[in-house]
Amino acid sequence: MESPGLYVHVPFCSSICPYCDFSVTLAGEARRARWESCLLREAETSLWDAGAFDTLYLGGGTPSSLRPDRVRRILDGLGESLDFEESCRLSFEANPEDINPSMLKAWRELGFSMISLGVQSFDDEMLRRLGRKHSGDEAREALRQARESGFETVSVDLIFGLEGQEESAWRRDLETAAGLGVDHLSCYQLTIEGGSLFGRRKREGRLREMQEERQAELYLLAHRVLADHGFEGYEISNFARPGHRSHHNLKYWRGTAYLGLGPAAHSFDGKNRRWWNKRKLRLWAGLIESGLSGRAGEEVLSPDQRLLEELMLGLRLSEGLDLKDLEKKYSRPLVDLNLELIDGLVEDRLALFDGSRLRLSPEGMAIADAIIRRLEVG
Ligand code: SF4
Repeated sequence: MESPGLYVHVPFCSSICPYCDFSVTLAGEARRARWESCLLREAETSLWDAGAFDTLYLGGGTPSSLRPDRVRRILDGLGESLDFEESCRLSFEANPEDINPSMLKAWRELGFSMISLGVQSFDDEMLRRLGRKHSGDEAREALRQARESGFETVSVDLIFGLEGQEESAWRRDLETAAGLGVDHLSCYQLTIEGGSLFGRRKREGRLREMQEERQAELYLLAHRVLADHGFEGYEISNFARPGHRSHHNLKYWRGTAYLGLGPAAHSFDGKNRRWWNKRKLRLWAGLIESGLSGRAGEEVLSPDQRLLEELMLGLRLSEGLDLKDLEKKYSRPLVDLNLELIDGLVEDRLALFDGSRLRLSPEGMAIADAIIRRLEVG
């Protein structure tokens, strides 16, 4: 069985982007120190019994805003409370404005082998509209420095689908990232979340969502451009050169166990139990300081819920899903139940099916949610 992964949520950012709906906050030293001590206490009391971790992912928020001495204490503390495999891979998210040679050297010395840069775009106008603090030149320079500092995998996040974004601008972003030698790209379609500033602007009629058809065109353009540069779209939003897939994130889609620490973090035992933490730093920390767990909720999934989840997550991957394996596991005639749908998908070139494994094509991935909604599970 695959080893579990550990996720640590770092809820701090230097400013809040107008499209962001994550659990993030602006915080000074006192709240950062409080988060650190609660995080280590949460690890000590986690009662995790699903095995030693082979990935550790610091996400956020902006992990690169943490001082290296704090990251060192966190890694040491986690190492005392939890079991890690010798070969554990360490990854972290960084914002371009935090990048400089000494910061990169410090994170390399701490053992991190993958850096994921929140670039979003290399286009100054797009960055301005997204409310980002860095310029296109700063993003390019951060990427060059990250590339030169010896990380095994350099990844960037890009956003597409802001109303008015031209195909040529999106192509330029993709080609710039590929041309600067990144190994991994996450291409996120902009969704306007109700709780964000963009959500408010949308309600006030000051911002519109890009039409779905246009979004799908930009999505398929990413597949074409990145395939020309040697990337495989291995998951709906993720592209990698050979050998550079995200080992940590693959655990979420393959149903492997993972533990999440920190506010808003989610966990899964690899079987049927999920739990999640309070979103707000103050509430999560308050519970932990009172000797309680920082959880907001927990659920035990029924076999039906778990099957639906396996279908939903598995079809996000280019490797797809083995329906015959799922039939045995859940005693459901999944192929017979969905034969008409599958035939139609294959005919429309939205999917490939070899009688057992169902895989979506890039065109199918562009409308994956609609396809998954039509699947029958009996
Ligand atoms: S830097 Fe990332 S996590 Fe922080 S506010 Fe912006 S989008 Fe959200």
